[in-house]
Amino acid sequence: MTRYGLERLPGLPESVTICEVGPRDGLQNEPVPVDTGVKVEFIERLADAGHTVIEATSMVHPKWVPQLADAEQVLNRVDRRPGVRYPVLVPNMRGLERALGLGVTDIAVFASVTESFAKANLNRTVDESLEMFAPVIAKARESDVPVRGYLSMCWGDPWEGEVPADQVVRVATALISLGCTELSLGDTIGVATPGRVAALLRALTAAGVPIERIAVHFHDTYGQGLANTLVALQHGVTTVDTSAGGLGGCPYAKSATGNLATEDLIWQLDGLGVATGVDLAKLVEASVWMAEQLGRPSPSAVVRAFQSS
Ligand code: MG
Repeated sequence: MTRYGLERLPGLPESVTICEVGPRDGLQNEPVPVDTGVKVEFIERLADAGHTVIEATSMVHPKWVPQLADAEQVLNRVDRRPGVRYPVLVPNMRGLERALGLGVTDIAVFASVTESFAKANLNRTVDESLEMFAPVIAKARESDVPVRGYLSMCWGDPWEGEVPADQVVRVATALISLGCTELSLGDTIGVATPGRVAALLRALTAAGVPIERIAVHFHDTYGQGLANTLVALQHGVTTVDTSAGGLGGCPYAKSATGNLATEDLIWQLDGLGVATGVDLAKLVEASVWMAEQLGRPSPSAVVRAFQSS
């Protein structure tokens, strides 16, 4: 019998770091308040499954993101384990100071590459938002805290349509020069296709952005999340943002489908012999448990396949 073993395709890395965004990006738009205890248990279950980067919460004002109003309690209650990073989104200097006061050792800022989304989400122009982040990033770096810069709408924007690569390059190079240690390229409305992923990565590296600093954050709105990720890995990316069970969407995307599900990616990477350190069966258990808490099934194909087998 021919056994189709683990064939790593040309150009793929030996291992990939998953940045698990379920507890923050995944939950932030949940309309019904999720108990702090549920959030804490979710994070613990993700760490139990082997995740080493778990975006825990956000310091955004509760007026904007009521679901994450308990950021402080979540951070105080989570058993922050050695070897696991728990990045926290901070919107401004006050958010950074609160995060540092809570012993946070990894932060993220959330930028937009389009004027329309900067206006809608941050109520600022792109340049004004970069000016606002400059002292936040500088202060975090002074405290030796790594800063991830999210870039949203990297391939398309609901108001502006297709986003030109040079617009992304401009914001990416600005964030790197401000001190960001990592950039996460967000396909916020899920419109990217593999050729455009390759083109943007080439444009960024040609502009001097080191590929090691680039992470990708795909949404599965049009079913392209895995294909886009595979191409990014073949171009040298080794950090991928995904959400356990496919939790979360974008309030500006028409379809309910959102973040690429961590399970869907792990199934693919396990099959390709690319290590992630995450135990798929344990992760599925965590997502099934979370889906029960939220009262609706996970949209992840792999979670559903596990449940029906
Ligand atoms: Mg997302």
